[in-house]
Amino acid sequence: MNEFALIQQYFKHAALATSNDSASSVVLGIGDDAALIQPPSGQQLVITSDTLVAGRHFPQDTPAHAIGWKAAAVNLSDIAAMGARPFAVLMAISLPEVDPDWLAQFSRGFFDCCAPLQVQLIGGDTTKSAVLSITVTALGWVEQDRAIRRDGARPGDLVVVSNTLGDAVYALHHPGSELQERLDYPQPRNLLGMALQGYASSMLDVSDGLAQDLGHILAASQVGAQLHLENLPLSSTLQQLPRQQAWQLALTGGDDYELCFTLSPEHFDAFCQQFAGQFQVQVIGQIIQGSGLTLQYQQQPYEMNLQGYQHFD
Ligand code: ADP
Ligand code: MG
Repeated sequence: MNEFALIQQYFKHAALATSNDSASSVVLGIGDDAALIQPPSGQQLVITSDTLVAGRHFPQDTPAHAIGWKAAAVNLSDIAAMGARPFAVLMAISLPEVDPDWLAQFSRGFFDCCAPLQVQLIGGDTTKSAVLSITVTALGWVEQDRAIRRDGARPGDLVVVSNTLGDAVYALHHPGSELQERLDYPQPRNLLGMALQGYASSMLDVSDGLAQDLGHILAASQVGAQLHLENLPLSSTLQQLPRQQAWQLALTGGDDYELCFTLSPEHFDAFCQQFAGQFQVQVIGQIIQGSGLTLQYQQQPYEMNLQGYQHFD
């Protein structure tokens, strides 16, 4: 199968099957030299790009469907973290070989992640290389000046996270455990991200561990934070572990793709009223003056090693 047939069969054909032209700003998608976008008036374009390399970002034996899903999900998660609405993605893929079964599963996983959000694949590149590598670029729209950045946290704001933390890294170290889905199928929190527009003062998605990622908000906003360990949201599996071990996973484990955000107590109350029960969110601490992260357990200071994931260590 040549490159054009491959694109046609696995990416263009499937893209058309799941696209929703009426709701989109895509004038021209796959097939020309480049895609064509009509920006909605008053909106700012949000763009992000993330690469997944086999053996580095996912174990070599990860099912193709999960790899496709994750390649889309990690990028849509970054759009969520800006409070923006995703509408399109591009995919540059380097393949060691053309394996029709693998490609069919991979593209299905990719579109299974994109379709519920009406996100279209509008272009990309396909090449051969020794190592499987996938770079996805995601595009979203956000109303002018409404993007939720990392530099808006203020003393007195609450620190909040979605769902549970530490599950993906637990699954990485316990292959086949009941948390495997949390590693293979991260859920981009786009509905929550959009709902937080007008409420959150800062936000990011947790990809390298909460402590390290929250550190980015603190540095950008020039503030500190105090976290209450007993409030960290843990899955039932992590609740079975010795508590210090569970906290370690929740604070330093990567690949969660949950949202961490800050907002004033008043905004938190208003948000909870407007979206009652729609999202699982947990207050874990507050923003304070100063810098850095301090931990407390039952109101007492608590020391822990908080090294997160570093690519170049
Ligand atoms: P060019 O030679 O101009 O780079 P290509 O042959 O690489 O064109 O791609 C042809 C069309 O297919 C383009 O519209 C490109 O965006 C699209 N395309 C190529 N690879 C992918 C892919 N993996 N996913 C989605 N679209 C792709
Ligand atoms: Mg090309």
